Amino acid sequence: MMQLFIPLNFLGFVYREIRGALANIERMFGLLDRKPLIEDKENAKKLAIGAGELTFEDVSFSYDSRQILTSISFSILPGQKVAIVGDSGAGKSTIVKLLFRFYDVDSGSISLDGVNIDSLTQHALRQSIAIVPQDTVLFNDSLLENIRYGRPGASDEDVAEVIKMAHLAHFVSSLPEGWDTKVGERGLKLSGGEKQRVAIARAILKGSPLLVFDEATSSLDSHSEQAILTALKEVAKGHTSLVIAHRLSTVVDADQIIVLSQGQIVETGDHSSLLKNNGLYSKLWTIQNQK
Ligand code: ADP
Ligand code: MG
Repeated sequence: MMQLFIPLNFLGFVYREIRGALANIERMFGLLDRKPLIEDKENAKKLAIGAGELTFEDVSFSYDSRQILTSISFSILPGQKVAIVGDSGAGKSTIVKLLFRFYDVDSGSISLDGVNIDSLTQHALRQSIAIVPQDTVLFNDSLLENIRYGRPGASDEDVAEVIKMAHLAHFVSSLPEGWDTKVGERGLKLSGGEKQRVAIARAILKGSPLLVFDEATSSLDSHSEQAILTALKEVAKGHTSLVIAHRLSTVVDADQIIVLSQGQIVETGDHSSLLKNNGLYSKLWTIQNQK
């Protein structure tokens, strides 16, 4: 069977094509000329989501017949930061795809603020979650407009505020025309770290209670990484956040770290307790901190 799923990374490509679709996954799917795989139930609720409490309960999932996730259970309380770490192929991105309901679970349930996501409209679900993707794409317009796309209609003052929160203020003031500077393929090229901070600014502006941060795999220099960590901490203050991490340095401050291996949770805990466990997390930590 032809695989109809469009990976999150591909959305970056769609961004590039269509100005204005940024930070709005739903609209981007609308642009693809196909029927969505998942449809709203007839009585689906529009429900405005509250604090962004997220619960996975005994979730299992397979693509076709291959089991990818087995019995995944975890909760993120409002305002908490939870990280998922694990080797490539462990199933981290699949967890995010299920959360966005690109697929339905085989068994178990995913709830936002106590409501099973399969009973929400996809619109309501996607308005409740802001994602900072791995690969942020800028379109050819000013930096100001690139950030405003997080919430079209946001005032300049609101944008100025999120620029500060995302630790972009210094960068913006260093630009020849400030936030009116054109960026994108025909404008100023931003570094990976700057682009991620733009994505963080958009996500804060969107104002969703739950923030999902899919960490870039591309190696950032330590200065950019530090700036992102600081920006992330700022965002995390008002939000519930789920951080998919390749680099453990982004998760040391998480309330809970979930270590995934071959689709199963093998360890959970905070950074120091996981180090003491001497398990997979501590192995990954040692590997990543070798000079
Ligand atoms: P991670 O994000 O931890 O690297 P993924 O969730 O992307 O892992 O992938 C988990 C497993 O599922 C991998 O073996 C991957 O090859 C497989 N997989 C991912 N997407 C699909 C798909 N659309 N169809 C079939 N298998 C997939
Ligand atoms: Mg992944």
